[in-house]
Amino acid sequence: MPKIRVLEKQIAELIAAGEVVERPSSVIKELVENSVDSGASVITVEIRNGGITFMRVTDNGCGIAPEDVPTAFLRHATSKIVREDDLDAIGTLGFRGEALASIAAVAHVELLTRARGAETGCRYTGGGAEAPSLEEAGCPEGTTILVRDLFFNTPARMKFLKKDSTEGNAIAGILDKIALSHPEISFRFLRDGKEQLHTPGDNKLSSAIYAVYGKEFYSTLLPVEYELNHIKVAGFVSAPSGSRPNRSMQNFFINGRYIRSRTAGVALEEAYKGSIMVGKFPACVLHLSLSLEAVDVNVHPAKLEVRFVNERPIFDAVYHAVKSALAVGDKPKVMSFRK
Ligand code: ADP
Ligand code: MG
Repeated sequence: MPKIRVLEKQIAELIAAGEVVERPSSVIKELVENSVDSGASVITVEIRNGGITFMRVTDNGCGIAPEDVPTAFLRHATSKIVREDDLDAIGTLGFRGEALASIAAVAHVELLTRARGAETGCRYTGGGAEAPSLEEAGCPEGTTILVRDLFFNTPARMKFLKKDSTEGNAIAGILDKIALSHPEISFRFLRDGKEQLHTPGDNKLSSAIYAVYGKEFYSTLLPVEYELNHIKVAGFVSAPSGSRPNRSMQNFFINGRYIRSRTAGVALEEAYKGSIMVGKFPACVLHLSLSLEAVDVNVHPAKLEVRFVNERPIFDAVYHAVKSALAVGDKPKVMSFRK
């Protein structure tokens, strides 16, 4: 029989990292979510070569105290939950304490951070098998993290990366979703030096949609504002005339988190039955707000899938919210009146 042994820490780290960091866009997702959780009002993302050689995320959030920085890079180290009960009501995007450890296992990282109100900041460098270093450094309040040469030490992973343009597009896609999920934050995305996205951060979902999808789509939108069984549904859906050839513009957010939800998607399309052609799809940007206890976000390492304690109320809320938006939107303007 072969001998069973516990893997060396370095190898175990690489395996665990694989679950969180699949490609450059997974790094961006984790870093930007950290910036959102930090309370930032401005977040800038810069990438080069599809993110493979260079990804930098800068925020003006709470920053990290120098003594906490090395801990932040340890696996299962987080400031967001403390007790088992906290898992029942997660109000932040992160909580697993895995992202920084995973990213540092497969890339070179440099973190520059100054905690709000602190006199000075610090610079941390590490990544791969490199011994980390920490030194005092001047910098603005907030955090900048630079990730270089993703998968430099894991050639097997590197092989699966697609062309720079494909990886860059995946990053752009993730940023669109995050920008739509937080209209109160101004997001800026620079790809190989060119600005690709800039949301104003004026806390209006319509402004974020305009920045992400452009004027033409914006002009087809109908507002949604509805509440059923303590589930609030707010945002916009496309008028039937603004239907799309595919589902790529169906966006659902739960408590500020972008998610994939079959239930919500089916409810949306059900509400359009009879008003759009077969083979065309509605678009939407819908924010669902419900009690934190009603959703389990701890299902998927990337947290794209969530579990609802009960799916039926989600279906009903989305269905009726969309139906009533369509009913109002269908009325000719001259006949509408204000209450
Ligand atoms: P998680 O987000 O699940 O807590 P991470 O590995 O992503 O785990 O981050 C570890 C910790 O580092 C966070 O809990 C947070 O305290 C701190 N942190 C990471 N990024 C930032 C940031 N941009 N601003 C402030 N704190 C940060
Ligand atoms: Mg995180």
